[in-house]
Amino acid sequence: MIAIAKLRKTFDKLEILKGINLNIEEGQVVVIIGPSGSGKTTLLRCMNLLEYPSEGTLRIGTTQIDFHAGLKPKQMNVLALRRQTGMVFQANNLFPHMNALENVMEAQVTVQKKSKEAASIRALELLKMVGLEEKAATFPHQLSGGQQQRVGIARAMAPQPKLLLFDEPTSALDPELVGEVLKVIKKLATEGITMVIVTHEMKFASEVADRIIFLDNGQIVEEGTPDQVFKHPTQERTRLFLSHLH
Ligand code: ATP
Repeated sequence: MIAIAKLRKTFDKLEILKGINLNIEEGQVVVIIGPSGSGKTTLLRCMNLLEYPSEGTLRIGTTQIDFHAGLKPKQMNVLALRRQTGMVFQANNLFPHMNALENVMEAQVTVQKKSKEAASIRALELLKMVGLEEKAATFPHQLSGGQQQRVGIARAMAPQPKLLLFDEPTSALDPELVGEVLKVIKKLATEGITMVIVTHEMKFASEVADRIIFLDNGQIVEEGTPDQVFKHPTQERTRLFLSHLH
């Protein structure tokens, strides 16, 4: 369903992603781990075109783009591809002047052109799913960081994207708020939502992932089930990375 081939990304002549090949099946949960600066966020941002890859191919669902120098954003089907993905960022980026319900309704009304009534029905269902039905009328600044992230997840899911991307969704949270957000993500995983998650929470990664990708220096060094990668890594670089975590 999602196919990434020979994907490269260069910033200021520095190659950050060095030929990434990755296929993700529908319903799979892929967790990307790796050292700081290895390119995890860049790979995620390339997947929904917040960054434009320099070379390679990206296909999500039926939308495919072949990147090459000189390709203009207008020729890229940027919107078509973005509509197939939802993104949950590190720290809350909810619209501050909208309450929780309106935040979850927004893309449905402006992008999907749904009626406000239909959008609010779905928004309430989603808020219920993340356990925040009673906070529908609450504004972001009145919510805890964990609650804000849960609204962010509901908002990312609202337009029914084919793929949900999470960029370190708990790294900006106080430790006591991490669990409630991870619980919601685990619930989505059991419901068959296709997800790519960048996280430093290794216990969570091993619990939620179908597949772990270890990225180092812009390359996929190792991949496999959590058991394979965490307990039986085959590459020295993976072993070294994991040993530094303890
Ligand atoms: P972390 O775990 O610390 O978040 P990461 O693995 O997500 O790291 P990236 O954020 O993808 O790493 O960054 C990879 C490299 O790309 C870094 O060296 C970073 O400085 C560089 N980089 C990222 N975005 C840009 C940009 N817009 N312009 C120039 N360099 C960038």
